Amino acid sequence: MLVDMHVHTAPCSPCSFIDPEMMLEWAERMGLDALCVTEHDEICGAQQAWELGRKRGFRVFRGVEVYTEMGDMLVFGWLKDAPGWKVPYRELLEEVHSSGGIVIPAHPFRGQGGLEEMLGGEGMRELLSTCDALEVINGGTSPDHNRVAAEAARRFGLPGVGGSDAHHLAQLGRALTEFEREIESEEDLMREIRAGRCRAIYMKDAPRLRRPSAGWSI
Ligand SMILES: [Zn+2]
Ligand SMILES: [Zn+2]
Repeated sequence: MLVDMHVHTAPCSPCSFIDPEMMLEWAERMGLDALCVTEHDEICGAQQAWELGRKRGFRVFRGVEVYTEMGDMLVFGWLKDAPGWKVPYRELLEEVHSSGGIVIPAHPFRGQGGLEEMLGGEGMRELLSTCDALEVINGGTSPDHNRVAAEAARRFGLPGVGGSDAHHLAQLGRALTEFEREIESEEDLMREIRAGRCRAIYMKDAPRLRRPSAGWSI
């Protein structure tokens, strides 16, 4: 089962150009099985997309991308707005875990030096030994930096997930998480990630997906 685990919609993510209805239309036509909406620091867009998905019969799972002093975290199972700007990672982790949720560092090695340069080896070790999984393929991150993330996940025994980080429709599905089992709910999603029954892949490795083409009327 193929899930894009990291999508931003407009207007709730002001940096995104993706209309939620159009996103569902494209996701269906591409052959995606489900997607996760993860707006920056707030839950409203995910909630709205989840409701649209229910009406349409397409699976949408709700998350939030929270900006912390240890970088961006994808959070599932915690349906709240971020409690502030640059949230302390430890506080977020505690709160999310106590409500049964999971925390997944997004694009941990994106950019020059990535998080490692920002946090140092010790900070990085703290992060990787406390989070629940790692985003090892991020659609907006270079393959080299994604490879470093995949290597870090292996070293720390963390499940790896993939998501497009789409801000434009054409980016939808460019990175994915392939699950071994069917996922019907956010509970299923978290359980399967915790159990490591998933792997991150690029769209080119999912040949059954149909790529969006100019011929599609939108
Ligand atoms: Zn954004
Ligand atoms: Zn993002």
